[in-house]
Amino acid sequence: MAVSHKVDYSKTRQRMVDEQIASRGVTDIRVLNAMNKVPRHLFVEEALHGQAYNDYPLPIGEKQTISQPYMVALMTEALELKGDERVLEIGTGSGYQAAILAELAEWVYSIERIRSLANKARKILFELHCYNIEIRVSDGTHGWKENAPFQAITVTAGAPEIPQTLLDQLAMGGRLVVPVGNAFSQTLVRFIRTKGGFKRENMGGCHFVKLIGKYGWQEE
Ligand code: SAH
Repeated sequence: MAVSHKVDYSKTRQRMVDEQIASRGVTDIRVLNAMNKVPRHLFVEEALHGQAYNDYPLPIGEKQTISQPYMVALMTEALELKGDERVLEIGTGSGYQAAILAELAEWVYSIERIRSLANKARKILFELHCYNIEIRVSDGTHGWKENAPFQAITVTAGAPEIPQTLLDQLAMGGRLVVPVGNAFSQTLVRFIRTKGGFKRENMGGCHFVKLIGKYGWQEE
């Protein structure tokens, strides 16, 4: 058995929730419990296990990152999940955010454009018995029409502009959280679908890797 499995990170994880997440204003108890439960270190390579609960993003290969814990909590809270939702995530990456969402909603659809990351995520999620997640390899800027509408959509990569395709796939009352801006800094934006259209709220500054695809940035 690998050494890492013998290390007990539960206290470190509790400290992460208290000092980085609750202290910054995330109050949804379901979100805090999920962040306290999911073993974040298993979503990064073993050499980084000791840093997995620190207050910053970490590399996951393919020039991509697992987001800072607080950012995951903030975005998840903004989706206002109660437990019966179908959620769409664009940018599976390590699979960590998908695991958090799977704790809080009925079903998670997650799209990743890089096959090797999707495969790694599938493997760890299976090992953790997260069976209510389906991961697909494709350009998530198209959304996932066959399973729309979604009560919640989260985009975990920075978009140059608001992806209309994703707004179209929101259910009535549904929430979309997406970082929008240039390659270096973005604003986290939340949209809520209402009868009259979309309500838009800015949630503050953030920094994400690029959303690359038809309705995102061009491939480099
Ligand atoms: N939510 C992830 C963080 C992902 S980083 C986690 O918890 O680890 C952003 C991810 O979005 C990267 O893996 C990147 O490959 C992916 N991505 C970028 N553009 C995409 C697109 N158009 N469709 C699907 N995935 C995309």
